[in-house]
Amino acid sequence: MLTYEQARRTVIEQAEKAKGPRATAKISLWDALGFVLAEEVKTDREYPPFHRSTRDGYAVRAAEVSDGAKLRYVAEIKAGDAVTHSLAPGTCAQIMTGAAVPAGADAVVMIEHTNPEDDSVRFDRTAQAGQNIVPRGSEAKRGEAILSPGMRLGYAELALAAQVGATQLRCASKPRVAILSTGDEVVLVDQQPGAFQIRNSNSVSLAAQVRLAGGEPVLLGNAADRIDDLREKISHGLQQDVLVLSGGVSMGKYDLVETVLKDLGTQFYFDAVAIRPGRPAVFGKCGGTFVFGLPGNPVSTMVTFELFVAPAIDLLSGAPARDLPFVEARLSVALNEKPGLTHFLPARVEWRGTAPEVRALPWQGSGDIAALARANCFLVVAADHGQVSAGETVPILLRKDLI
Ligand code: AMP
Ligand code: MG
Repeated sequence: MLTYEQARRTVIEQAEKAKGPRATAKISLWDALGFVLAEEVKTDREYPPFHRSTRDGYAVRAAEVSDGAKLRYVAEIKAGDAVTHSLAPGTCAQIMTGAAVPAGADAVVMIEHTNPEDDSVRFDRTAQAGQNIVPRGSEAKRGEAILSPGMRLGYAELALAAQVGATQLRCASKPRVAILSTGDEVVLVDQQPGAFQIRNSNSVSLAAQVRLAGGEPVLLGNAADRIDDLREKISHGLQQDVLVLSGGVSMGKYDLVETVLKDLGTQFYFDAVAIRPGRPAVFGKCGGTFVFGLPGNPVSTMVTFELFVAPAIDLLSGAPARDLPFVEARLSVALNEKPGLTHFLPARVEWRGTAPEVRALPWQGSGDIAALARANCFLVVAADHGQVSAGETVPILLRKDLI
């Protein structure tokens, strides 16, 4: 059985092989969050476009400023003011943050270090040339590529595009990810379940995870645990870039997903991973479509999506696979988990003065969505280190939708 690292690597290798030129579309800056850029974005001018003051204070010639020095006050410069005159020797100009420093001046002295006196300003310390000024062109030259293909557009990248006037961005179209839940016990979320039925929460969490991962969810509803229904709905799902199934991949008599996938010609890369929850996770390819069969217990579905499906969506979007958001924290309550499997336990990490501290939350196993809704991370217990003492440093996988 593969470790989760090996299984993840397998997904990444296969998705990398499938990487080709993707369809692209122009997307408005306002809608482009989470898309992957498919073009270079270049600056339209130098940045900053003028020598920019980073402080409210006085523009001066640094050599003229020392403790007790006095300079004649000649002008006020606000952000946005056109600056045409150069600063004459022996003078200073009041200047605001973001305003252009006039020629002649080579430093800005913070207002806190000055005292106005009649038509002059007195200074209480020396100044260094260049202080509190960002030189013209120091952030980017004119025509310089500041965003490149394959970059994921987050809020800073979008602000950068906005800064240079790129209001339409050519982006890779999002991979289409079909979502199909399975199970005779499953009813639509807006239906009243019978006494022994459950609502289809997996399709909801999967659609949210697909969106967060940068994919476009295509909802196919639920298939009954019957060969004919599974076959019809899976065939439909195989028209998309990725098909994610929930349920039907365990060892039960009615776990038929693998059988149907096999009949349809799926090539399997793994059908179990040494993790808990999520052990029966399946990954394969059928035609041009990547297929993930995730176990149906909701926390298993969520964990296996993050570990295995998310990197495939990254790569099919034309971006590199993002690393798992691991950090380390101090364990506050000892653990004793079955060795041989890597455990992903719903947990809460909190900053405790000097370091993050984490504790596993009480839970009823992989069906316990409420426990995960109280968690902000997964505490990862290594397969060969099931007994962990309080105070040990442990890896945690952040819930990237929350932190
Ligand atoms: P399975 O992997 O098909 O054996 O499913 C395991 C358990 O997960 C089922 O007994 C249900 O309790 C639960 N489950 C399966 N599918 C869903 C779903 N779509 N939404 C919520 N829970 C589910
Ligand atoms: Mg089932």
